[in-house]
Amino acid sequence: MPSSSFATTLTMALAVLLAGGTPATVAAGDARKSSTPTGSVAAQPATAARGPAFEYAYRPPSAPDLQPIYQRVVEADLWRQLPELQELDGLFALPRRLRFVTAECGEPGAFYRPDQGEVVLCYESLRTLYAQGQAHRQALGLAEDHPLRYLRANVRFMVLHEAGHALVDLFDLPVTGRQEDAVDQLAAILMLRFGGRDESPGEVIEDLRLVANWMLSRSTGAYDIDAFADEHALGEQRFFNLQCLVYGTDPDAFAGMVDAGDLTAARAAGCPRESRQTSRAWVRLLLPYLAPGAQAYREEAAAFLRQR
Ligand SMILES: [Zn+2]
Repeated sequence: MPSSSFATTLTMALAVLLAGGTPATVAAGDARKSSTPTGSVAAQPATAARGPAFEYAYRPPSAPDLQPIYQRVVEADLWRQLPELQELDGLFALPRRLRFVTAECGEPGAFYRPDQGEVVLCYESLRTLYAQGQAHRQALGLAEDHPLRYLRANVRFMVLHEAGHALVDLFDLPVTGRQEDAVDQLAAILMLRFGGRDESPGEVIEDLRLVANWMLSRSTGAYDIDAFADEHALGEQRFFNLQCLVYGTDPDAFAGMVDAGDLTAARAAGCPRESRQTSRAWVRLLLPYLAPGAQAYREEAAAFLRQR
């Protein structure tokens, strides 16, 4: 269990993570965005006139050891430091309120509560992810900033995954197959499209690989009937599904993934098609719900769908 020195280290890491907040707007025509898979239209400022804004809240925990995490999250305004979430904020004509809340949950996790219109991110998840990042760093001799990168990448993915559940619910989007797989795909697509305003496409893809590693690290490999029956795919399958999406965006650039065993050659062959099909599906599903002011994205989506 986390010691007080661990809590101190985590709090300091969160300070670094969250103090490096990026500006609220992005320069139009940011060149990095042109190489992302969903299109080449210049980015528009995040503050363009758009739909209803998300609500953000930070619920005080009662557990003493979560207090430092809560304090840092509040001071830094964590929700406004997540680049993809900020791009999504105001992008859609939401029929109801959508609130993002950090809270004490009693265990690590994140979830969407349709009855409350809330996405909840648990403080325990921040603690656990950082501990896992530290363990990887020690075991593999990784760079000093690894635990922080690991935490940040996974929080971004986790929140986008839950935002996906929220969008499916709010817009009553059709989903055949497992919704868990579908919203994993959406989270990956959003990270590839919007990325960090301070990150290159290569860094965003590295972030997605950290997420894939988290999926793998959750697996024990000793599966029972509960694992097979679960609404989520097995950790190994989520790992390879995500790797396939990343690889499919640029098979030449990521040829090394197959050599490294991050993807089998047999699966890799179909990944460009999988990536394209998945991105097209999500763009088509969400396009009707863009806010009236999101004209640049409407045009980008239309151009993307014309490419076959
Ligand atoms: Zn889920």
